[in-house]
Amino acid sequence: MLLIGNGRLITRDGRRPYLEDGAVVTSGEDILAVGETPEMRRRYPQAEFVDARGGLIMPGLINAHTHFYSALARGLVLKDYHPRDFRGILEGLWWKLDAKLTLEATRASARASLIDCIRQGVTAVFDHHASFGEIPGSLSVIAREAEIIGVRSSLCYEVSDRGGGEKCRQAIMENAGFIAQCRSSGSPMLHAMFGLHALFTLSDRTLEACAKANGGQAGYHVHLSESGDDPRDAMEHYGIRPAQRLQRFGMLGPDSLLIHCVHVDESEMDLIRDSGAWVINNPESNMSNAVGCSPVLRMFEKRIPVGLGTDAYTSDMLQSYRAVLTAQRHQAGRPDVGWNEAAAALFVNNPRVASRAFGRPLGILKEGAAADVIVMDYRPYTPLNADNADGHLYFGVSGRQCRTAVTGGVVRMRDGMLAGIDEEKANADIMESARKLWRSLYR
Ligand SMILES: [Zn+2]
Repeated sequence: MLLIGNGRLITRDGRRPYLEDGAVVTSGEDILAVGETPEMRRRYPQAEFVDARGGLIMPGLINAHTHFYSALARGLVLKDYHPRDFRGILEGLWWKLDAKLTLEATRASARASLIDCIRQGVTAVFDHHASFGEIPGSLSVIAREAEIIGVRSSLCYEVSDRGGGEKCRQAIMENAGFIAQCRSSGSPMLHAMFGLHALFTLSDRTLEACAKANGGQAGYHVHLSESGDDPRDAMEHYGIRPAQRLQRFGMLGPDSLLIHCVHVDESEMDLIRDSGAWVINNPESNMSNAVGCSPVLRMFEKRIPVGLGTDAYTSDMLQSYRAVLTAQRHQAGRPDVGWNEAAAALFVNNPRVASRAFGRPLGILKEGAAADVIVMDYRPYTPLNADNADGHLYFGVSGRQCRTAVTGGVVRMRDGMLAGIDEEKANADIMESARKLWRSLYR
């Protein structure tokens, strides 16, 4: 039993959204009580006290789309890599990199990414994995790391035709195998989805094989119309829009995550809304790849649930929160739009999508919710209350201010020190894997 207290508490629970000196009491994997620190200490004297030291106590942040596998690319400079468009980025960097990823490099990438998540207060993640150098067993390797570091992880493998028939078959099997493994393990820290790269690298035959292998067991985690390549390919080869292709194979629905949706038209948005699928926006990645700006505000108007990811551009969800608002305002040419939508994406919709996936309330601090709690080192110098907490988070807090993180009722980081991991040794191992990977790419 933990008592995380002595801090300003943001609960995200409408009944009691803010306590000036609040505490969260956990029992096992769940939250037992939320209240004033002195009262909680009186009621639960046996609980281990985790001191927030006057910081901000809040629900762990959720990242609805990332790629752990890209971690070892940090600082990598490839010769003759001067991409002119999105295809150039994929072919010149990411497809080269994932073709070299072995299980060992996958493990190191996952470990680096997961440590970064905990360090930035991200306690639940939806990952999209590719390691075409070594596919079988890769999701199990990541799952093991997720359990060691203690980040709730929804995992999938990105099926694509781009590596040829045998690799495609292995990718399909990797998804199906992990979905079965996840079901039998029953771990509250793990969730499985069926991963698809992007429709312009997936034939109808492959989509059919995926639908068959999945058998309706898991939702799909798919990049949809990130660039103009998807609609161009779908119209040219199939005479329909990309979202219609997904619908044709039964891949839209309330368990599916549609990543990006930059180039979706009105009819596709209607189709997506009617299916109940989620759209996940990744603003910095879209801007950096120069693919365009997703019509996030239009999707909110249409009541499509839009969540927020990072696409591995960063692990910092508060940075992504700032980026979605600034991008949408810039695109609209209006300074008076997007505030509520940006906050809803991160603090309402991401918790909803994660709660659905992991089968328990996440992103909220209340009795019975999952015990995923973070403490940010933040001292406000202006009044902070229930009505303006988002303003403080938006302008005053970034992920690196996370000092303490608890997931599933277990302390994963306390006062900036990771628990149960020798971080220096982990870093040295990751560095060695990165060197090996870079050598293979320079050859
Ligand atoms: Zn992505």
